[in-house]
Amino acid sequence: MKSILNPKFAALSPHLPKTSPFSLFSLPYHSIFRNNPQQLPFPTLKATPFSSNSFLSRAQNRTLQTEPTRPLSGEIHVIVGPMFAGKTTTLLRRIQSETANSKNVAIIKSSKDTRYGLDSIVTHDGAKLPCWALTNLASFKHKFGIEAYEKLDVIGIDEAQFFEDLYDFCREAADHDGKTVIVAGLDGNYLRRSFGSVLDIIPLADTVTKLTALCEICGERAFFTLRKTQETQVELIGGGDVYMPVCRHHYVNGQVAVEAARFVLQSHKVECPSHIHK
Ligand SMILES: [Zn+2]
Repeated sequence: MKSILNPKFAALSPHLPKTSPFSLFSLPYHSIFRNNPQQLPFPTLKATPFSSNSFLSRAQNRTLQTEPTRPLSGEIHVIVGPMFAGKTTTLLRRIQSETANSKNVAIIKSSKDTRYGLDSIVTHDGAKLPCWALTNLASFKHKFGIEAYEKLDVIGIDEAQFFEDLYDFCREAADHDGKTVIVAGLDGNYLRRSFGSVLDIIPLADTVTKLTALCEICGERAFFTLRKTQETQVELIGGGDVYMPVCRHHYVNGQVAVEAARFVLQSHKVECPSHIHK
């Protein structure tokens, strides 16, 4: 299936413009601080009117002022949306732009998704980059090599909904190791419930980009992923044979149709044994 991404909404830069309709959260002082390390990230601390906090504020100011050379902190950018919205394409584009800026990059994907092989990451429209296929993120630093990890600037994570330790990894990488982490994954499963830990990292993120696909039925913007088959387990890896992107109207109608078909199948299964024994 062709990956459908309205170019109007394709975020080409790892640093989203503040006016992007999908940049739901941004911390403006972060980029100011990054561009000018001499400027303190919390300028209001000095002017705090709360006397009970004055000692703490003075202590924090003193700490901040006496550590002008501490390393810059990292960044976390999250790309979400339904299947076929161009999340992996957007991730790869951002990674490629970081590579063009002479940054050291690495891409991680879940070893659960073997659809396109384990040594590379491939978008629905065929773009390809080498990657690390892992069962969990905690093992990355060791497998990549501590020395090589220290030289890394940017870490891309695809299919992030499959990593249970996503929150801890992203927090550690950005807060303590100074890495830029770009995360792509499904925000919701086929039931439109939170999928894995992707939504958990939004409070950690500098930016959040929600992409949309095109509804496979009517061509309107699609926000949801409809499972076309009868399976009910949450994690069922598949492509266009199992899932399709749909608008709200066709999600609701499609879900009713799928559930009706499932009910018919289940009642057929219940009746089957008696027929067999006859
Ligand atoms: Zn539709």
